[in-house]
Amino acid sequence: MTPIQMVDLKGQYQKIKNQIDSSIQEVLNAAAFINGPEVKNFQKELEEYLNVKHVIPCANGTDALQIAMMGLGLQQGDEVITVDFTFAATVEVIALLKLTPVLVDVEADTFNMDIEALKKAITPKTKAIVPVHLFGQCANMEAVLEVAKEHNLYVIEDTAQAIGADYTFADKTTKKAGTIGNVGTTSFFPSKNLGCYGDGGAIFTNDDALAHTLRGIVNHGMYKRYYHDVIGVNSRLDSIQATVLRAKLPHLDAYCDARRKAAQYYNNAFATSDKIITPITSNYTTHVFHQYTLRLIGVDRDALHKHLLDSGIPNAIYYPVPLHSQKAYADDRYKEDDFKVTNALVTSVISLPMHTELDEEQLQFITNTILNFVNK
Ligand SMILES: *Cc1c(COP(=O)(O)O)cnc(C)c1O
Repeated sequence: MTPIQMVDLKGQYQKIKNQIDSSIQEVLNAAAFINGPEVKNFQKELEEYLNVKHVIPCANGTDALQIAMMGLGLQQGDEVITVDFTFAATVEVIALLKLTPVLVDVEADTFNMDIEALKKAITPKTKAIVPVHLFGQCANMEAVLEVAKEHNLYVIEDTAQAIGADYTFADKTTKKAGTIGNVGTTSFFPSKNLGCYGDGGAIFTNDDALAHTLRGIVNHGMYKRYYHDVIGVNSRLDSIQATVLRAKLPHLDAYCDARRKAAQYYNNAFATSDKIITPITSNYTTHVFHQYTLRLIGVDRDALHKHLLDSGIPNAIYYPVPLHSQKAYADDRYKEDDFKVTNALVTSVISLPMHTELDEEQLQFITNTILNFVNK
């Protein structure tokens, strides 16, 4: 059996090596490393794929969130609601901009924002909601949009884990994750579903005026060289990353299918166990399985984690600590009772190897090892 990887970037590269190598060589030959034509080409191709008017490439997914919040003109003291159960980048940039992060609990079965918790958290100072499409499926966007409309709030979708997922509205129309709210952000970190070979990110919007502001912010607030109209940052996607992303974008849907196929294998294998809850996909979204995350009942999660590592099966705990319990984001306003679901998830979740290159022999070994452990 080929050794199992949590994410198999080498195996994926081998299949498109010729194209990637020659496109990188072309960038080297052209020596247009920043804001070269490859970045523009990628931007256009991603706009088409997402069916969105504007893609603004930037340096990483964390910057994308920060720049989106700057572009919306959020001010010190404005409250921004996001989830307790996510990667810290989301709350980090809120705090960094001196906005006030307000964390809310998630739903146990989707791991995404709990809409009742969202409603409860709204105050006159609330200005924006940041739903995170965690692990690869969309949050309940129709409900989020309804709350946002009622209270006149911006919606910033953190799509770092769900690029390519489709959201279906009650009227059966569909939109790509990240193109539903006022603005969406994503990351092209190598292990994300559409990953480059370094850092990269992008912001999406259908709002022309916002897109113009964002394009200035990513480049020092300049529209004309050395004329700074707004306070900006330096956050650019480079041409080598753009050319890698151009080579991979046409494969994104097939990559999502490969992940779904692996997820289906896991689901079928674990269906026999009442100690394992497999991830559900809500009826309003497709799932692109950035992570395949189980919930365990009556199983020593940390012992399983170690047993799998000892058996050559990489696995990870996303996430081991709720954000409200992190030193950096502690706040007297938080009550443990408000985070019952997240507090339970951090001790019961485990994420399994999930990527485009998993084969049946590996999947069989992983599922058998887990079933033998939980049934012993
Ligand atoms: C990866 C990730 C980010 C940050 O992306 P970077 O490119 O690493 O800065 C933000 N939010 C979520 C949910 C992520 O998973």
